[in-house]
Amino acid sequence: MARIIEHGAQVWTNYHKTFSCNVAQRMELANGDENSGRALLKAAAEEIQALLRRAKEEGVTVRPLGAGWSPSPINLVQQGWLVETRRLNRCFSLSAEHLAADRQGEAESLMLVQAGATVDEVYESAEELGRSLRTGGASNGQTIAGACATGTHGSAWQYGGLQDHIRAVQIVTPENVWWITPSGGLLSDRFVAETASELLADDDAFAAAQLNVGSLGFVSAMILETDPIFMVQNIQKAARIDPEHIAMLSNGNFHQFSAEFALDEEPYFLQLILNPFNPFGRKALLRFLYRRPYDASIPLPKPGAAGAGYDALTLLAEAMLSVDLLKEDVLQLAMEQAYPRNRDVDDPPAIATWGNTTEQHNPIANLFNGSVTMERSKLADAFGRILESFNEGGGGTVTTLRFVKKAAGLLAPARWDDNVVIDFDGPNLESAHRSYANVIARLDKASLEYTRHWGKTNNLDAARVALDYGDDYTRWRKAQQRIMPDPSDRQIFANEELMKLGLI
Ligand SMILES: Cc1cc2nc3c(=O)[nH]c(=O)nc-3n(C[C@H](O)[C@H](O)[C@H](O)COP(=O)(O)OP(=O)(O)OC[C@H]3O[C@@H](n4cnc5c(N)ncnc54)[C@H](O)[C@@H]3O)c2cc1C
Repeated sequence: MARIIEHGAQVWTNYHKTFSCNVAQRMELANGDENSGRALLKAAAEEIQALLRRAKEEGVTVRPLGAGWSPSPINLVQQGWLVETRRLNRCFSLSAEHLAADRQGEAESLMLVQAGATVDEVYESAEELGRSLRTGGASNGQTIAGACATGTHGSAWQYGGLQDHIRAVQIVTPENVWWITPSGGLLSDRFVAETASELLADDDAFAAAQLNVGSLGFVSAMILETDPIFMVQNIQKAARIDPEHIAMLSNGNFHQFSAEFALDEEPYFLQLILNPFNPFGRKALLRFLYRRPYDASIPLPKPGAAGAGYDALTLLAEAMLSVDLLKEDVLQLAMEQAYPRNRDVDDPPAIATWGNTTEQHNPIANLFNGSVTMERSKLADAFGRILESFNEGGGGTVTTLRFVKKAAGLLAPARWDDNVVIDFDGPNLESAHRSYANVIARLDKASLEYTRHWGKTNNLDAARVALDYGDDYTRWRKAQQRIMPDPSDRQIFANEELMKLGLI
């Protein structure tokens, strides 16, 4: 039997200590000792549904919590129930009999994961099965449901976000336990029944559920598609770039860019961290990952040496918080000191599995994270204006360029065929907020289209969300009504931020 552990009323603060709330009850959901994945899922779904029904009766709101890593207030609930999912963290392989007859050949590539498994746990379980996810974010402590809920992405430029891996989502509402899949279906009737669920095979409901921002019900499990296990070779270095390089990236000439700074081949992953005060006068931190076949005999380097993330950079927050002068110098010093040791073309190669490219993260109080996503081809035109307006606000963070394809989900910020994500990460200074607001204003003035990350500082409201996502937003809202037809069921998931965003 799954169970709920109640911790009582308390003040809860998110991971980066950017927001707190007074919760009427903090609860933890934990698995029982059922010995099959299906029985475990059934027990968890039934427990969650009983909890949602109790909340409805008592007129309380419920907030499912992942790792609490979103610095935006989407994971808060005032005077409601905050339900932690970290202990619903089992991962399983699937066999052919769990799938619909015409899908059975896909069993090997699919994994069943519970919502609260961390990205790291999913990576590790996939590797044990000889499989791998294709992309991820800069770090690995988010839960898989929480990371997908906001469209967490990295810079593997041929993929969108973590939610792209999803092939089916199990969502619990007060009325139903759904397995939501595309209209083509995926699961066998028996698997659906044995997990106490009903099938909702609907393209829009599925595309809404892939990126649900925590407002489509309680996600209890997912089925993810994986690749055969592979490795990546890491090259990272500090180097000066110039405006022609920005144009090169804007055109998607990643191979050419790579040939100039690292290997003469197309990178699997490409990321640039820049000093926004002087992006061409100061060295940028470049990171390239190249896909390699799996070779079990290669000793794995420490994750930090093979990284797809940039966790160490958050350390610069501490250096920056107390210093107001010479920001350009301090920022550059912090960037270069905090970056894991350079690994250039001539150094012994650092090769790791994808799951070993990110490292554990230590929470640092009071960080600012904000980003804008736009069509990649607009980068060359927008770059100067973005940095100029950012610096006019006083700045204080680094600027990171990451590249992704159109991501899955009706509300995916990466909405164009090819996208650049421009991140601003650093200390939670007033100047960082001012600078981010300046960037937004400047892009709007120039009528350059862009979107913002659901889990980070974004200054969004319902009108703007409707404008940014247009018909996709309307379809998402209709799908929400299909998943939870009763408005009072949707209200159970209300919090101030999601109401403000027009997502409840
Ligand atoms: C150190 C660090 C590094 C990061 N790196 C990146 C990055 O590289 N790229 C990027 O895009 N983002 C990044 N982020 C942002 C982060 O990935 C997202 O904010 C992500 O959503 C956090 O996942 P979480 O499990 O902590 O979810 P939470 O913050 O706990 O929740 C996010 C939303 O999902 C909902 N939710 C969670 N679980 C469920 C569930 N089971 N059912 C229904 N709703 C649920 C919550 O209620 C909330 O609305 C980073 C954040 C940190 C702190």
